[in-house]
Amino acid sequence: MSFLTAAYEKIHKELTEKHVSLVAVSKTKTAGEIMEAYNAGIRDFGENYVQELVEKYEALPKDIRWHFIGHLQSNKVKYIAPFAHLVHGIDSEKLLAEVNKQGAKLNRRISCLLQVHISAEETKFGLNEAELDMLLSRISKDPDQWKYAEVKGLMGMASFTEDNDLIKEEFNSLKKIYDRYNNPLSTPHYPLSVLSMGMSADYRFAIEAGSNMVRIGSLLFGSRIRK
Ligand SMILES: *Cc1c(COP(=O)(O)O)cnc(C)c1O
Repeated sequence: MSFLTAAYEKIHKELTEKHVSLVAVSKTKTAGEIMEAYNAGIRDFGENYVQELVEKYEALPKDIRWHFIGHLQSNKVKYIAPFAHLVHGIDSEKLLAEVNKQGAKLNRRISCLLQVHISAEETKFGLNEAELDMLLSRISKDPDQWKYAEVKGLMGMASFTEDNDLIKEEFNSLKKIYDRYNNPLSTPHYPLSVLSMGMSADYRFAIEAGSNMVRIGSLLFGSRIRK
């Protein structure tokens, strides 16, 4: 059994028991490596560069669900709008509006996650809680105007640190925000079903905190050579 198949079987069992979905992060991996994962049963793949994603979409089986997990520039939305299954990294109203516009042109509803800034690091993108409140209030007041960019949930990344308590705290803070929008008594009340948090190094903490979608690369494919 190959490294990938063995790794997938192990993680698949673990995630299935906890009702957590897997996005296999295939950035920098070749079409051949992705096909190996596909043949092992994986259908959800995540990429973080638009051009790489488009090339792989064109070359690989059409029943793959492609997740865009990187930082998306507004002027590139049009390239992934025809096929993206879920766009994880929406971090501004402007970007969401562009997804909505491109979706409208294609008459295709595009599922999105809003990225929330939960880490102590400056470098990670995302909305803070006040910005999130503002955006979700605006959408919930005028859902028709936003119908081609469907906000399904939230995405977040914890700090890159050895401090496990900090990681847990950050994931817990995102779960709390997610629960608040799902609470009918809160304003804005905005029902969400996807909470995307957790990567190879920290997915167990993320699941413990309530994640229902993890994005896992190196644990499946082996470590990446930095580009
Ligand atoms: C690369 C990446 C991952 C996966 O990272 P691994 O440590 O290889 O599991 C998850 N999420 C995002 C946003 C990424 O860019």
